[in-house]
Amino acid sequence: MTHYDGVFIGGGPGGYEAALYAQRLGKKTLILEKYQLGGTCLHSGCIPTKTLLASSKRFLRSQHRDKYGLPRVGHQEVDWTVISERRVKVIEDNTRGLEKLMEAKGVDVDYGIASFLDEKNIRVTHDDGKTTDVSGDKIFIATGSKSAPVSGVQWLDGWVIPGEHCLSWHTLPKSILIVGGGVMGCEFACMFAPFGVKVHIVEMLDDVLPMEDIDVSKTLRRELKKLGVSLYLGKKVENYKQQNGQISLNIEGNKQIIVDKVLVCTGRKAILDNLEIENSGVKLEPHGSIKVDIHQRTNVNNIYSCGDVTGPPLLAHAASYEGKVAVQNAFGNAVDRDLRAIPAGIFTIPEVGRVGMTEQQCIAKGIEYRTGLGHMRQVGRSHAEGDTAGFAKIIVDSKDKIIGGHIVGKQAGEIIHVLALALSLGITAVEFEERIIFSHPTLSEVIWETLKELNV
Ligand SMILES: Cc1cc2nc3c(=O)[nH]c(=O)nc-3n(C[C@H](O)[C@H](O)[C@H](O)COP(=O)(O)OP(=O)(O)OC[C@H]3O[C@@H](n4cnc5c(N)ncnc54)[C@H](O)[C@@H]3O)c2cc1C
Repeated sequence: MTHYDGVFIGGGPGGYEAALYAQRLGKKTLILEKYQLGGTCLHSGCIPTKTLLASSKRFLRSQHRDKYGLPRVGHQEVDWTVISERRVKVIEDNTRGLEKLMEAKGVDVDYGIASFLDEKNIRVTHDDGKTTDVSGDKIFIATGSKSAPVSGVQWLDGWVIPGEHCLSWHTLPKSILIVGGGVMGCEFACMFAPFGVKVHIVEMLDDVLPMEDIDVSKTLRRELKKLGVSLYLGKKVENYKQQNGQISLNIEGNKQIIVDKVLVCTGRKAILDNLEIENSGVKLEPHGSIKVDIHQRTNVNNIYSCGDVTGPPLLAHAASYEGKVAVQNAFGNAVDRDLRAIPAGIFTIPEVGRVGMTEQQCIAKGIEYRTGLGHMRQVGRSHAEGDTAGFAKIIVDSKDKIIGGHIVGKQAGEIIHVLALALSLGITAVEFEERIIFSHPTLSEVIWETLKELNV
């Protein structure tokens, strides 16, 4: 049996970044992966969605060519086959890149399904049915998450499907209904609506992106409508059935809709399949994710866990960060997890960036706060680009310390890092404005406009 300092179960951004970090610390490391390196993020999450969205966004822009004085293009039909082939190539290139990186850094990778024999020993079952056993001083579980339907919604093979299954469609449907107006649902709507697919979103709560700041949801609701997306807010879907090659369903309140496909984007749950977690002694949270402490350690001394399998925030970079915290703690350097300055991007049209608290969270926690708002239309570059929708909002506490930042607009997913840094430095809005100089003309200047409003 081969022995390692660290065995990482799962080759997604949680597992592979943690393994690379352990290797940097001089540890002998092994990744066990049942499919391919890259995890959900690379194969059915972040990267394929953004690859397809790149086509949607370019297509939308190309429809306004005359506004920029460019010649009209004659052929306006979308070639979904080419778009799909590009998605496959992007994934393949990134997968090969990861494989080479692991090889170059000396991180071993074994492909197969990992199951615990006990807290230090793991059996790997390969595709051909053969097994090998490995052991590790420290074991890291990073097995990710999978789609979970809300109660009342059942899968209907090929018709009512987990949202991410649309990423491998070979043809475009004419109409879709998305159950769930959260991040995934809104990104899928923006992916398909520009191509003329009729998109309906049904959201049980009162607005789209219900976890985002209230002004963000309001703006995105307006922008989705501009794309032709029909929204049914505060509603549930009921009684769906297959009918002449389509799905017919009712939206609470008795409106009947018939669509080609239903994408369910209502939430995710931890992947523990085949892991035989009971052999390890690791305890779970009541909702099924792995229970960890602030050091990413489970209740079993030598077993750590990170990423989606431990529950929210369900972000690739959060998984990588938690993996690094786990490795630091496992190999002797005590570090607490601190997710306060984790930024998040939502790659809708326009994009959303967020870090820290929303106004709703401040109110719920009884935190005294103030906000400043700057609009994209106040920024010269937005006009130059022809994208003036959106705003930036900064939230400060009673001592004027920055505790939240929210941006809607072109490139918001990039610009948000400026606010993430300010938040992680723990500085006030005045200190921030004094220290930073924004290059002109940039979209980031929307933050400057916001600071000026906040610091009067
Ligand atoms: C449609 C969609 C879009 C998304 N977009 C974004 C985005 O834009 N930005 C963002 O930050 N996040 C995004 N996410 C979320 C992001 O993909 C996840 O947060 C991230 O992949 C979690 O990383 P992880 O390492 O915890 O798990 P995963 O990436 O899921 O990796 C887990 C790995 O473990 C392997 N595995 C599971 N069980 C076993 C076993 N028993 N033995 C061996 N291997 C096993 C799996 O095959 C998988 O490769 C998106 C997700 C989806 C579904």
